[in-house]
Amino acid sequence: MKNKYELIVVGGGFAGVAAAISAARHGVDVLLIEKYNCLGGAAVSQLVLPFMPYWTQMPVTLERKFLCGGLFLEIFEEMNKLTDPEGKSGFNKLLYFDEEILKLVLNRMAIASGVKLLFNTTVTEVEAENGNIKSIKALGKSKVLELEADTFIDATGDGELSMLAGCSYKLGREKDSLCQPMTLCFRMSGVDREKYNQNQKRINELYKELREKGVIKNPRENVLVFHNYNDGVLHFNTTRVVKRNPTDPFDVTEAEIEAREQVFEMLSFLKNNFEGFENARILSTALQIGIRESRKIEGEYTLTVDDLTSLARFDDAIAVSNYSIDIHSPDGTGTYQWYFGDGEWYEIPYRCLIPKGMNNLLVAGRCISSTHEAQASFRVMPYCSEIGQAAGVAVAVAKKNATTVRDVDIKEVQKILISEDFAINS
Ligand SMILES: Cc1cc2nc3c(=O)[nH]c(=O)nc-3n(C[C@H](O)[C@H](O)[C@H](O)COP(=O)(O)OP(=O)(O)OC[C@H]3O[C@@H](n4cnc5c(N)ncnc54)[C@H](O)[C@@H]3O)c2cc1C
Repeated sequence: MKNKYELIVVGGGFAGVAAAISAARHGVDVLLIEKYNCLGGAAVSQLVLPFMPYWTQMPVTLERKFLCGGLFLEIFEEMNKLTDPEGKSGFNKLLYFDEEILKLVLNRMAIASGVKLLFNTTVTEVEAENGNIKSIKALGKSKVLELEADTFIDATGDGELSMLAGCSYKLGREKDSLCQPMTLCFRMSGVDREKYNQNQKRINELYKELREKGVIKNPRENVLVFHNYNDGVLHFNTTRVVKRNPTDPFDVTEAEIEAREQVFEMLSFLKNNFEGFENARILSTALQIGIRESRKIEGEYTLTVDDLTSLARFDDAIAVSNYSIDIHSPDGTGTYQWYFGDGEWYEIPYRCLIPKGMNNLLVAGRCISSTHEAQASFRVMPYCSEIGQAAGVAVAVAKKNATTVRDVDIKEVQKILISEDFAINS
């Protein structure tokens, strides 16, 4: 097993997978390291479902314009071929997915593109010098590995590689460093979904009443449920743990414990009060509590809420997004939403991916350089994939021209991205 690659991507979520596949397709020798045993990141380990929308309807023509980059749509098409080929399920085939199919499809696509995969391995140490990462250490299955690469991409969601390399970062919102809440997603089986649909309004009314009386402890304002491909199963994205630091292992442990109590609180609430839940059971909880926001690595540019609301355009744009500014209250009840109109989106500059002071490191996904409010928009999976794809192309262009990713020819990167259906410069 060799220990030197042209590119090492750390983190196999949507950002990391897209970065690795994209770089490999453009001729880069890539190793992708993932802490768990599969690709998909939050979609699989945190049981996050469904994809948030990634298109806009253009005014006048009413044409649907996709904004997420070509690779994300390709992943989706590959999943749809296996999940529901005849389209009988009635689910929206642009938003819903089966995470077991996702794991399989991502393995196949990564391997077909030439990416070398390394699972069950956590990067724990970085040796960096003069703005360059020289090598990393990772605890694999029963072995510490020392690995080298010309370039690295931090797609860990939490900015772990950059943090280990000594990069500066911001945590949570500016005034008090509180991050968006953590949520342990879970599934309930044995549910009569028809009766659930009929009772949905009453469930929320009673939930609110019991929460106000202090009977229900979960601070979330309502019961957030999604359907999914499994008959008789509901998917809950409704636990809420606030004021815990998602980068502190002890705080995260407390959050896991608190959220698990909320899971069983919800089961009891539904079983005790509503028809259709008599045979309900907790089918599964996510492998780890879901983290919406943690470190945001300080880069050469920090994306702000003003950039979003003014629909900013940048000379070095590498991605776009129009997902709402969606902030689940970091300190209690309530969710703030600010929506983009039809045909509106903002651009994300390449400089947000370049950590200050680093030459051979890019960040991709939810940990790029941005404020709390700006991150609340592009953090969703389709746009993390788009940012990752762009990072992969940047590495390939840098390799071709023998430059660092910091000094890459951005116009050449943009030309490739546009040919891959990116909506930048439009
Ligand atoms: C509760 C919740 C609900 C959400 N709802 C939605 C939704 O409905 N729709 C939507 O589109 N988005 C949603 N999101 C947002 C979205 O899931 C994430 O922001 C997005 O998946 C982030 O992608 P990423 O690739 O940046 O990071 P991740 O998906 O988190 O991937 C990072 C990967 O890096 C790995 N990793 C971390 N550290 C290391 C290390 N040191 N060594 C090796 N591997 C490492 C992790 O195991 C993980 O697989 C939600 C998020 C949460 C938490």
